[in-house]
Amino acid sequence: MSGREVGRAADVCVVGLGPTGRALAHRAMAAGMRVVAVDPRPHRLWAPTFSCWVDELPQWLGHGAIASRIEAPAVWTTSEHRIPRPYCVLSKQGLFDALPLDDATVIAGRARTVEAHRVELADGTEVRAATVFDTRGQATPGARRTASAHGIFVDEDIAAPMVTAGEGLLLDWRDENGAGPDDPPSFLYSVPLGDGTVIFEETSLGLRGGMPQHELRRRTLNRLAAHGIRLRGDEPTEAAHYPLDEMPPKAGRGAVIPFGSRGGMMHPITGYCVADSLALVDTALDAVQRGADPIEALWPWQARLVYWMRMRGVYGL
Ligand SMILES: Cc1cc2nc3c(=O)[nH]c(=O)nc-3n(C[C@H](O)[C@H](O)[C@H](O)COP(=O)(O)OP(=O)(O)OC[C@H]3O[C@@H](n4cnc5c(N)ncnc54)[C@H](O)[C@@H]3O)c2cc1C
Repeated sequence: MSGREVGRAADVCVVGLGPTGRALAHRAMAAGMRVVAVDPRPHRLWAPTFSCWVDELPQWLGHGAIASRIEAPAVWTTSEHRIPRPYCVLSKQGLFDALPLDDATVIAGRARTVEAHRVELADGTEVRAATVFDTRGQATPGARRTASAHGIFVDEDIAAPMVTAGEGLLLDWRDENGAGPDDPPSFLYSVPLGDGTVIFEETSLGLRGGMPQHELRRRTLNRLAAHGIRLRGDEPTEAAHYPLDEMPPKAGRGAVIPFGSRGGMMHPITGYCVADSLALVDTALDAVQRGADPIEALWPWQARLVYWMRMRGVYGL
């Protein structure tokens, strides 16, 4: 143990600086709180490409965080449907820059103990704070209900037969991925990223243990081939494999407050949590400032009922 102590008079300690933890730390700082934030690599840009409905984003975020906007994304079943609700891809750098932590104490380290008012790091450093938020993300899914995706980044001109700038395929269920009638189903998600590339991402939601990357890739390539698109094979890729069924926490004044994907905010059907969590940051912080229980504020019975209904949807999937 180094015995170093940090943050004796901190109001808030945020453990984990993914998008949700960084937003919490940023807004707490902006609200005048003394903030300590901990992450093994606090300055690293997040790996996944995050998207959401535009109207889900909180007003305070500003539009610099949006990289690409689609006014009416398409859904394909046996025919094409348009959803008249603007959707967007977030800019990784834009979102990161919109959440500066200039006045916070940021520690590069890994927490090994996270308690209600005390966090101990792997090197023995101790952080003390009146309120501790746990935003360390989720464990690997094992056999749980899982979101799996394999995304391939393709230049816009190559992608043009399927997706062009300003257009997007939210769910493409066309029978083009080569899956057999008894195989677990998957759909294609494809949107322009605003940097001259389009992502083609075959996605499986709700399958226990998830779908292997090689199968998702095979299905993506089948879909592209059906539209005359052939890839070189060395295009950059991204992979997703995470659980969908993280439960909301029980209320309990004075406890550690799990937030973001760790705190049950992952939508159990879509696998999205970023926009919803950003929109709830101020609810949590307002409760902290009022001396109320943030978990009660984040999870009124209506929110728990919605979560319960969505879980029924996952079982259906
Ligand atoms: C390829 C892919 C595409 C996705 N697309 C979308 C999308 O379009 N929209 C969407 O909403 N979601 C999407 N998701 C899901 C998305 O990843 C999560 O919604 C989001 O990352 C959750 O953010 P978070 O801050 O809760 O957790 P995370 O992003 O997992 O962040 C957790 C942070 O905690 C840190 N940490 C972990 N352990 C410790 C420790 N012991 N001590 C200190 N710090 C620690 C980690 O370093 C990390 O920075 C996607 C995921 C993937 C993989």
